[in-house]
Amino acid sequence: MALANESEGMHYEGNCIRPPREAYSILLQVTLGCSHNKCTFCGTYKEKRFKIKDNDIILGDILFASKYMKRQDRVFLMDGDALIIPQKRLMWIFDRINEHLPWVKKIGAYANAKSIRMKSLEDLIDLRKKGMNRLWLGVESGDDQTLKEVNKGTSAKNLMDMGKKVKKAGIKLTTTVLLGIAGRGERSLEHARATGKLLSAIDPENVAALTVIITPGTPLYEAYRRGEFQLPDERELLIELREMIAHTNLNGGIFSSDHASNYLPIRARLPEGRQEVLDVIDAALRGEIGLKPEWMRAF
Ligand code: SF4
Repeated sequence: MALANESEGMHYEGNCIRPPREAYSILLQVTLGCSHNKCTFCGTYKEKRFKIKDNDIILGDILFASKYMKRQDRVFLMDGDALIIPQKRLMWIFDRINEHLPWVKKIGAYANAKSIRMKSLEDLIDLRKKGMNRLWLGVESGDDQTLKEVNKGTSAKNLMDMGKKVKKAGIKLTTTVLLGIAGRGERSLEHARATGKLLSAIDPENVAALTVIITPGTPLYEAYRRGEFQLPDERELLIELREMIAHTNLNGGIFSSDHASNYLPIRARLPEGRQEVLDVIDAALRGEIGLKPEWMRAF
């Protein structure tokens, strides 16, 4: 029996996001929303009630991709934390991808500390053997006070353990961190230093720094309106970025801030590229390099 979306096209519900590097991947929506959905700054999935999509719909999408997406050799599993799917069911999805899309070489997904904790090291290794190549972990900060204030639902220690577990399983890891999320002044610098320390402990292959954008409808927006949260200005954000990079020691990993939300795009392999990128930030702080205008920024 043919499945409805096998011929009609991929089945997407609501707002779907993916990392920039997955722009040409087969985007397979296996869950709706995020099982946590409580971070104060995040409005991405506010309209969605979390659920795992039906196997028939997922299989219909895979069969559609098998007919019409033969040139795309990567799959990205959406939405917020596909890794939360129970292992047996997730393995079934990976098996169907491998069966019907044999040209796909890499499978990626977003993850959070909770969903990684629910997988054993062996589970992660099994997924890697079936093609799981990279996970994106939203760390946001290495500062426990900041993590608590943004309701991340985890601690720096737990994020460190979960990040290390992914790496131990042989899965590549991109961690995202959020500039500006701790507010202004000394908190900004504490966030930068603690985040650098956490990133150094995890030692991911990639770090992507984003800049917080205050989104209407989120608790952070309400705190901002009440004057309880103040966003660092452009200069303070550059100083925060500088402090974070100065405290981050990676073993050949790449630290980038080329996301659309940032004022200054930088990209450096650490440790060797550190001084060059600090010099670029210093030049920007002296006004010798222009920053991205506000209207060009997006989350
Ligand atoms: S930031 Fe990530 S974990 Fe937090 S609510 Fe948004 S999607 Fe969920």
